[in-house]
Amino acid sequence: MSNDTIFGKIIRREVPADILYEDERCLAFRDVNPQAPIHVLIIPKKAIPQISAATPEDQALLGHLLLTAQQVARDLGLERGYRLVINDGAEGGQTVYHLHLHLLGGRSLGWPPG
Ligand code: AMP
Repeated sequence: MSNDTIFGKIIRREVPADILYEDERCLAFRDVNPQAPIHVLIIPKKAIPQISAATPEDQALLGHLLLTAQQVARDLGLERGYRLVINDGAEGGQTVYHLHLHLLGGRSLGWPPG
């Protein structure tokens, strides 16, 4: 299942992406505008628009996204650490309304974020 965003098009292979991992529930691909040497997006195939729209029914899927991010980080050699980010809504800086985790790594990351 996918929705009508650029990420839905990536899931349906209507738009190209540098895909690093895929299974029946999720997809991981490199961000086209990386904010760190490694910047990967992990998305569910289910069309959840944003984290604030997730429901208890999505509990296992949300856990799967986190564990997928952990595995992708391992595969990319991020043993020194990394950051997972979910932007939600206008004030959270969300621009694509298909839930996604940002996996950022490969440099020291500042805190707090902007
Ligand atoms: P957010 O601002 O949290 O909604 O993040 C959306 C992210 O999607 C941004 O970091 C964009 O650079 C990224 N993005 C947008 N279009 C594409 C695309 N076609 N392929 C890969 N990443 C994309």
